[in-house]
Amino acid sequence: MAEVIVGIDLGTTNSEIAAFIDDNVQVLATAGEQIMPSVVGLAADGALLVGTSARNQYVLYPERTIKSIKREMGTDHQVTLGNRTYSPPEISAMILRTLKTRAEAVLGTEVHKAVITVPAYFSDAQRQATRDAGQIAGLEVVRILNEPTAAALAYGEDRQGARTILVYDLGGGTFDVSLVYVEGEITEVLASHGNNRLGGDDFDQLLLDFVHERFVRSGGVDVHTNPRAMSRLLRAVEEAKKRLSFEPYTRIREEHLTERDGLPVHLDLEVTRTEYEQLIRPLLEGTLDSVHRALTDAGKRPEEVDEILLVGGATRTPLVSMLLEEKTGLTPRQELHPDLCVAFGAGVLAARISGHDIERVLVDISPYSFGPSHFGILNGMPSEHCYRPIIVRNTPLPISRTETYLTMVDNQEGWQVSVYQGDDEYALNNILVGRFIVEGFSKVPAGNEILCRMDLDLDGILRVTATEKRTGLSKHITIEGATTAMSEAAVAAAQAQMRSLFGQDLEAGAEEGEWSLDAEDELDELDELEGEEEATEALAESSGEATKDDARDRRVQISEARAVLERSRRLLDTMNNDDREEAISLHERIENALNTSDTKRLHTAMTELADLLFYVEEK
Ligand code: AMP
Repeated sequence: MAEVIVGIDLGTTNSEIAAFIDDNVQVLATAGEQIMPSVVGLAADGALLVGTSARNQYVLYPERTIKSIKREMGTDHQVTLGNRTYSPPEISAMILRTLKTRAEAVLGTEVHKAVITVPAYFSDAQRQATRDAGQIAGLEVVRILNEPTAAALAYGEDRQGARTILVYDLGGGTFDVSLVYVEGEITEVLASHGNNRLGGDDFDQLLLDFVHERFVRSGGVDVHTNPRAMSRLLRAVEEAKKRLSFEPYTRIREEHLTERDGLPVHLDLEVTRTEYEQLIRPLLEGTLDSVHRALTDAGKRPEEVDEILLVGGATRTPLVSMLLEEKTGLTPRQELHPDLCVAFGAGVLAARISGHDIERVLVDISPYSFGPSHFGILNGMPSEHCYRPIIVRNTPLPISRTETYLTMVDNQEGWQVSVYQGDDEYALNNILVGRFIVEGFSKVPAGNEILCRMDLDLDGILRVTATEKRTGLSKHITIEGATTAMSEAAVAAAQAQMRSLFGQDLEAGAEEGEWSLDAEDELDELDELEGEEEATEALAESSGEATKDDARDRRVQISEARAVLERSRRLLDTMNNDDREEAISLHERIENALNTSDTKRLHTAMTELADLLFYVEEK
C-alpha cells in the first residue's frame, strides 16, 4: 500500500486537509465540515478549542481566543493563551494537529507526512516557521508548496502544455493575485501582488454597519456596546453575505437581539444583492489594480493569460467574476470550490509523491447550463424568448441558485415557466427540458417579483421552483437526469420536436398553430407538464395550454421577423447605398429562412438586420 501523505491548506481564516481516497483526491470532512476555522482558544473550563468552537467564542472572549496567527508566522511575536505564552508555530501546530487527528479518523490510519501550502510571497523565515509548525504537530513536511501553484495543480494545468495562469485569491482576511507559468513539472510564480489586510471579513464589517444602521433607523436599538448582540449580528450578516452569492435578496432575522425597557427587540430586515454589491464594489475595484500590477510586473498583457483560477471563499461573490471578466475578457474557471482548491492542489502533489498518478481532481460539476426563458430585449427588440442561465455549466454540485423575474402586465395571474438547457441567449436555440405553470398571483400592477429557484443535486435531479415573493405562493417541478447526456434518440426526438414546431408542419401546409400528434406526444414527454388543463397566463401575456403556447412561440418569432422587415423597409430611403444593399440582402435571407422554416438562420439574419437598423437609426 502506498504511503499516506496528506495535503494541507493552512490558511489565515480557514484550513483544510486533503488525501487520496477511492482513486481521487478529496478534501476530508468530519461531521460534514470540510472547512475548519484557523482559530484556537481556551474555553472557560480551560479546555483547548480549535476550529468552529474557538471561532464562535471569539467575539465574547477575544482575550482567550487567537485568530489569524498566519500573519505572525516567521516573527518573534508571542501570544498569550491562559497563563502561558506561545510562538506562532506552536499555535499553528494546534491547528495542524487537529487536522491530522480528523484525517486519521476518516482514513482509519495514522498520518505522519504532509505537503503544506504557503502564500507565494512568504519569506524563508515564514516557510521555515511553517515547517516547524508541522514538526511540532508530528508531521514531516515533505514539501512546502506555493498556494497559486497548488491551485494550478488542482486544475491539472501542468498536464496541458505551457500555460500562463492568473490565480486570484480572496480569502477571509487576505487577498493576493499571482501569475503562474506552468509547463509540465515546472511551475514558476512570475509575479505576485496583494493586500494582506483585505478579505471577506471586511465585507462582513461593511454589511454589519449597513444592517446595524438600518436597524437603528427603523426603530431598533444601538447595540454597539453589547458584545453578545454584536457577535450574533456578525454571524448573521456573514451567513446573509454567503446567501447573497446565490440569491438576489435575503432576510436577516435575529429574535430577541436585545431589549428596550425590559421588552425584547427583534431584528428582521431584507438586504438585496445590489445593496450589498454597492457596499463592496470599491474594495473589489481596488483588487483589480493589483491584477494590473501583477500583469505589468510579469510583462504580460491580459490576452496572454490562458486561464483565471478563483481561490478563496470570498470569490464566490458573483461580482468578483463579473469584474474580472470585464477587465480581462476571460471567464474565470468555476469547476472547483474556490475555498477547497488549494487543499485539493496540495492533495494532488501529496498523492503524486506517494506514487499515485493524478491527472487532476475530479469533482461533480453540472455539464450544462439551465434557466427559464423570460420576456426581455433581444437584439434591440422585445422578445419572450430571452434566456440567461441560472445555473451555469461547470458549477460544482450540489448547487442552489435563485433569480428574480418581473410580471409584465397589471394583474398578471400566472407564469408559464419554460426550463431550458443550454447557453444561447435565444431560448429556442436551447433544449426545452421542462415546463410548468404557476398561477394565482396577487392582483397587482406589473413588476410583481417572481423568484425562480433551481436546485441541482449530485444525482442530476433538477428542481425548479417559482415563487411569488410577496405571498410565498409557489409551484415546482422535478426533472430527473438533467445532467446526463441525452441519448442519440432523445436528441433526435428533441430535434424532431423543434422541426415540427418551426418547420416541417409549415412545409407540409398545416395551419400555423396546428400540431402533429407526434410532436405533441414528444413535447408532453419532455415537458412533464403539470396541470396542463389549467389555462394560465404566460410571463408577459395570457396564453392557453402549453402545446398551443409552443405554437405561439413559433408565431411570435415569425411576427417578430415580419416586424423587423417592415421597420427596415420603412427606413430604406434614409439609408446610404452600402447600408441599403446590406439591408436588402438581409431581407432576402430572412424571407428565405421564413420560406424554409429555418429558425437558426432566421434568428441570425434577424439579429444582423436589427443591428444594422440600430446603427442606421443612431446615425
Ligand atoms: P477562505 O479564507 O478561503 O476560507 O475564505 C473565507 C472567506 O470566504 C470568509 O470571509 C467567508 O465569509 C467567505 N465566504 C465563504 N463562502 C462564501 C460565499 N458563499 N459567498 C461569499 N463569501 C463567502
